[in-house]
Amino acid sequence: MEEKQIKIHYGELSTKGKNRKMFQQKMAEQIRHKTKHIERIKIFPNRDFMFIKWEQARYEELIEVLKDIPGISRFEPVYPVAKDMDAIKKRALELFSELNIQDGESFKVVAKRSDKEFELDTYEIQREVGDVIGEVYQNLAVKMTRPTYKLTVSIHLKDEAYLSLLSYQGLQGMPYGSSGRGMLMLSGGFDSPIAGYLMMRRGMEIEAVHFSSPPYTSPQALEKAKKLTAKLAHFGMPIKFHNVPFAKIQEEIKAHVPDSESMTVMRRFMLRIMDQLIERNNADAIVNGESLGQVASQTIKSMRVINEVTSTPIFRPLIATDKNEIINLAEKIDTFDISNEPYEDCCTVFAPTAPHTKPKQEKIEDYESALDIEGLVKDAIENTHIEKIDEDYIRKQEADFADLL
Ligand code: ATP
Ligand code: MG
Repeated sequence: MEEKQIKIHYGELSTKGKNRKMFQQKMAEQIRHKTKHIERIKIFPNRDFMFIKWEQARYEELIEVLKDIPGISRFEPVYPVAKDMDAIKKRALELFSELNIQDGESFKVVAKRSDKEFELDTYEIQREVGDVIGEVYQNLAVKMTRPTYKLTVSIHLKDEAYLSLLSYQGLQGMPYGSSGRGMLMLSGGFDSPIAGYLMMRRGMEIEAVHFSSPPYTSPQALEKAKKLTAKLAHFGMPIKFHNVPFAKIQEEIKAHVPDSESMTVMRRFMLRIMDQLIERNNADAIVNGESLGQVASQTIKSMRVINEVTSTPIFRPLIATDKNEIINLAEKIDTFDISNEPYEDCCTVFAPTAPHTKPKQEKIEDYESALDIEGLVKDAIENTHIEKIDEDYIRKQEADFADLL
């Protein structure tokens, strides 16, 4: 069977110097993981491109996988052919014969030549190949700007020549895991999964941290966070999910802190716990879904007082986005329906009716002095439950559920 090939263009990655190898390895690792079910795929990274070769006929499946891998700017199926004009023309005609050409469509040929010894220059290659296609497909007009089909002929310096006809947009960004590890504060809302997605696309490996407060919060609320994690795993690798029990802390806050300040104190507890989880899991940064002014805890004054408890970098990729932009992304990465489920998380259950939007540092510290901060944090960390969630999680859960019926 003929070997198939896809050529991957790196985008931003190609500007990286010494680290390029590491970036390529991360990308290759993810591609290998995502294509485990497609047999015998071979990956060849080189300076400017990555080639993927395989023999199975499942083109479509591989194309769907590659569309969602961070760090790929675009990719195209390529067809190797001997460096010989007759062979090139013959192969070009074969490729066009596989298209379903309609009246009114157009094409152009673009030639690239790194082998300056080749018998024709780029202009001549374009004209000769264009002529044979035009002769066979007389209803197909030549169009220089935005043609329906663009055939690229690349004459490489070493080996052979390559033809390509279709090009697919990649996800852009940087390879997953090439920019450190972040711990994502993942609630069940719309924002935090998008924050995670954006950092993942930028190359950051993600672990998810969810604060849950059973019996005040339901098992469905926890499940929601896990399903969101599965959706995120689609863009990276399986994700470590940390479920932190938070009820005891919230009960203590409710008992000792005035309602108006409880949100601030609660958030400070979350960050203290995050800090220790970062340390224990060797991560580099906290990621959350805060957006300036969205709710009381996200006014600039609140954020300052909340932030005071940690010196770990906090990444807030959504800080300057509007809700409708977040919703658009939620639809794009398919988290909208899950985030839209009605189950309340711990913040909502304990939400004060009138939270203070300009809390004062000294007052907050005063209230906190009534609480055993260290003990409560330690207890929450020690009872945190960890599991790995992969992108198949939702499908597996549904299958298990169907078996029960
Ligand atoms: P989201 O912001 O994810 O839509 P939300 O709007 O209910 O959920 P906010 O009150 O806006 O949450 O909280 C701001 C950020 O704090 C969230 O984006 C998330 O990163 C973090 N956070 C809130 N609640 C939780 C939780 N139960 N577990 C983990 N992180 C949380
Ligand atoms: Mg929010």
